Amino acid sequence: MIKRTEAYDLINLSQIELANFLREVNTIRSEAWGNIITYSRKVFIPLTNMCRDQCRYCTFVQTPDSGKARYMTPDAVLRTALQGQNAGCKEALFSLGERPELRYRLAKDLLRQQGYDNTIDYLHDMAELVLNRTLLVPHINAGALSYQELKRLRPVAGSMGMMIESLTDHLMKKGQAHHGCPDKTPQRRLETLRSAGKLNIPFTTGLLIGIGETWQQRIDSLFAINDLYLEYGHIQEVIIQNFRAKAGTPMADYPEPTLHDMMLTLAAARSILHPDISLQAPPNLEQSHQKYLEAGINDWGGISPVTRDFINPERAWPQISQLAEKCRYLGYELSERLTVYPAYLQHKEKYLEPKIATRLASLSSDKGQAAVQCHIA
Ligand code: SF4
Repeated sequence: MIKRTEAYDLINLSQIELANFLREVNTIRSEAWGNIITYSRKVFIPLTNMCRDQCRYCTFVQTPDSGKARYMTPDAVLRTALQGQNAGCKEALFSLGERPELRYRLAKDLLRQQGYDNTIDYLHDMAELVLNRTLLVPHINAGALSYQELKRLRPVAGSMGMMIESLTDHLMKKGQAHHGCPDKTPQRRLETLRSAGKLNIPFTTGLLIGIGETWQQRIDSLFAINDLYLEYGHIQEVIIQNFRAKAGTPMADYPEPTLHDMMLTLAAARSILHPDISLQAPPNLEQSHQKYLEAGINDWGGISPVTRDFINPERAWPQISQLAEKCRYLGYELSERLTVYPAYLQHKEKYLEPKIATRLASLSSDKGQAAVQCHIA
């Protein structure tokens, strides 16, 4: 594993040194993951698009005065999940804004119409609905959560996730990406990761790069994630996502990270994180799939054959069959995985509720990947 000071210096690598470094991270990836590149076939369930935070790059969120703010009804949740199931999905990704009822009257009213007074209780019951009425396994991505909230949600989800994005206090200041976002403080993000560790929840986290953090702060965030993995063993994957400037947001004119920056960060992550942590970059955010593979990733994350990417709606998912073809051309095999990685399936008593473990067992091959591989988008 690379030392922190060496990682700080990666930003100064010459072209030749970078080529050597990429060869090193490829060796790390190959030894841990072979030539298998995975993805999860999932259906997105954007339970609410309201949020009490106001990240300056976000296009997912809607305020009540937009006329587009809403919660999905139980019928809509079930209909969407079944649509995914019929398209071969194994995972239902619940993705939502954070605690909108603490900010908006409309959110309170819509929750009350469904018989709830807070989003987490509603989320719990909607995940349970999917678990009981479909063959899918919920993955919950609900932002910063307390120990008690994570504990409540654990029985209805195979895995959970929360991007730490950046552990940089500076981003909370006026004019910065996370100003006015009480859920984006580094302390809250780290505490969520730690609580998930104490509860043995297979967990996804990651960085959003290029939102105002320095290279050194990026490296520190990766070391902080790895330290928590070494303490608890629960972080199954880390996503490196590149900021995209989106029209209509306060950061519409902010410079985007370059492909070189993305590759260097991916390679740094591969060399800092324990090799058993899956390293992921989303395939719909950059056409240079080959470059991401060169930088050491082993996973493309969730790809939906039925729902668009609600966080980056302007970026279409690649056809899964085309991605499989591209991987094969580059010497890799695309393999469909489940929301819980094989290493965690092997220790189901520690990491999974019995009902979830049974469901996952019915969906998995003896190697822990998806039993029925579906490579048609
Ligand atoms: S917390 Fe998530 S949904 Fe809320 S504003 Fe930030 S990026 Fe958007």
